[in-house]
Amino acid sequence: MKCGQQIKEVLDIHSNKKKSQNESKKIILKQLLRVKLNDPNRIFNSYPHEISGGQKQRVMIAMALICNPKILIADEPTTALDVIVQKEIIDLIKELQVLTSMSVLFISHDLSLVSELANKIIVLRDGKIIEKGDTDKVLNNPKNNYTKDLINSKPPINYRLEKLPTIDNGSSRTYKKIIIPHEKRITNQRKIYSKIPILKAEGIYKKFIEKKSFLNKSKYFEALKNINFKLYPGETLGILGPSGSGKSTLGKTLNFLDPPTSGRVFFNNKVINANKKNDLKNLRKNIQLVFQDPYSALHPKKTIGNILIETIDHYENNNLEENISIAKKLLVQVGLPHDFFNRYSFQLSGGQRQRVVIARALAVKPKILIFDESVAALDISIQAKILNLLAELRTKLELSYIFISHDISVVKYISDKIIVMDKGQIKEYEESDNLYKNPKSSITKQLVNSIPGIEYRKLR
Ligand code: ADP
Ligand code: MG
Repeated sequence: MKCGQQIKEVLDIHSNKKKSQNESKKIILKQLLRVKLNDPNRIFNSYPHEISGGQKQRVMIAMALICNPKILIADEPTTALDVIVQKEIIDLIKELQVLTSMSVLFISHDLSLVSELANKIIVLRDGKIIEKGDTDKVLNNPKNNYTKDLINSKPPINYRLEKLPTIDNGSSRTYKKIIIPHEKRITNQRKIYSKIPILKAEGIYKKFIEKKSFLNKSKYFEALKNINFKLYPGETLGILGPSGSGKSTLGKTLNFLDPPTSGRVFFNNKVINANKKNDLKNLRKNIQLVFQDPYSALHPKKTIGNILIETIDHYENNNLEENISIAKKLLVQVGLPHDFFNRYSFQLSGGQRQRVVIARALAVKPKILIFDESVAALDISIQAKILNLLAELRTKLELSYIFISHDISVVKYISDKIIVMDKGQIKEYEESDNLYKNPKSSITKQLVNSIPGIEYRKLR
């Protein structure tokens, strides 16, 4: 159903008097303008899949507000959006709230986001209110330990912790806060950048066919334009950018899951030839991808053990017993009990599934892991646990990471250098702390300025 029609349904159901087609269309177009959709006619006639995530969220808000409610309940309205769009939506809700003097119940797992617009905060755990009060008080002077943990699990902005506190390890109470000193980081990075790059991208372009037709020439969309970078052994390279900037495309291009249209990829100083089967097999073994959604990544009808063994078997010539023992070791390595071997993925939580996905990626002993929004779908405290696990594995197994995310605080925490992308291009490529302290490109500035709750997070 088209967006306009969907809003019209809400309008029809809740109006006492039936409106003419024209009358309701006029009201809806006005409403779309009010949520700052500048081309209301096009949106009115679009299907949801034809508009961006941010636009969809605006349509939803338009729909919720079409009958001038007294209360708006917004349940994680920006969780799937990048920080820039998120800020736009938050600002929009604030503005509409003033305009219509409605009350807003804003539900979120992200305390820093809540701090942007709430007057008062209620913290829920297991269905019970464990803390409530004015936003300032709850955030700057939390009483309950769980609230403290929630606040601390988010990577801090102004310093770097060796390990993030998490909720069930006793966390902020027994947790020892170790800050990585700047000098130590510099020394470590000197070591990393004195080595020979393990992966090199040279002039990568990726084009997608947009329209194919017999009469006209095919139209192309350039998702990647002239991408150049080097990844060093032991380095974590962050890829940051708004949605649609080409981050995922870059990830898939690098291991030739979807080969580049032009440009060269070097692995261990050797250029990859897409026509050579062995080149590709070797590259794909060494560069493993971990995606966002651990729910769809694991086969629902296979045990965790079988999933792991299948992958090991694809690359190694072992007997079954050896494979079973490798699989169990992998589970322990990612912090799961080895008897998860016999479980099915539906018996696991989101965080546990993501650990299995990581174990599977490690099963073939890769040199590089590409994480594409791999912690985005996880709750904040579980996110911290996975980030800790990744840092630990990187050192232990001497891995290099490419860490793709739209969340600048997470990317900044884990990365040595960061690439900022926009519209398929690299806009900035800089050491992570420098990038945050001194953003140069306008897109980086926008990303930094859109970090939610920055005021209260600076105090930490
Ligand atoms: P990001 O991961 O940064 O959100 P993507 O790499 O997924 O962005 O997409 C970048 C751009 O390329 C988007 O405009 C998207 O619509 C387009 N795109 C991605 N994959 C395809 C495809 N298979 N065919 C056509 N266009 C695509
Ligand atoms: Mg993506």
